[in-house]
Amino acid sequence: MEDGTKTRSGLSQSSSKLRYGQPVADTRTPTQRSFIMRSVGTKDTGPEMQLRKMLHRAGYRYRLHVKKLPGRPDLVFPQRRKIVFVHGCFWHGHGCSKGQPPKSKSYYWSPKLAANKARDARRIDELGKLGWQSMTVWQCELRDPVAALQRVQKFLDNGQNSDRHGRQ
Ligand SMILES: [Zn+2]
Repeated sequence: MEDGTKTRSGLSQSSSKLRYGQPVADTRTPTQRSFIMRSVGTKDTGPEMQLRKMLHRAGYRYRLHVKKLPGRPDLVFPQRRKIVFVHGCFWHGHGCSKGQPPKSKSYYWSPKLAANKARDARRIDELGKLGWQSMTVWQCELRDPVAALQRVQKFLDNGQNSDRHGRQ
């Protein structure tokens, strides 16, 4: 897509376009555009969005990616002092079939993925020391959205089922 250039000639070109009623068309609404911008980032991943929508619909309110907390947790419920991480099975080393390092190049992947996993566990411990309970929702769990939502609700509502070290 061609944008107005920063040169002087580019500037006069775009102003003449405007004068003749033919501005470069951007038919997207601001909402659509900001959605596109957001989806470019790595934070709002598919599974996370899915869970967020479900929780929002169920009446839960949360804050996102709170920078002040270790690991910038995905979903933070300040009043409840609870945190929900939404993890991709591969990158975070889930015990399911999707969470296994590839057979080829496992010398490359295994330490990387193990490090990710260790970091996740460390963050959950740090958060625990700060008085936050955490739970992890795995990407594969969201294939059954109702069950996943129920598990999160249980955690949020009574706090007795936090799995501080992630479900394997
Ligand atoms: Zn999984």
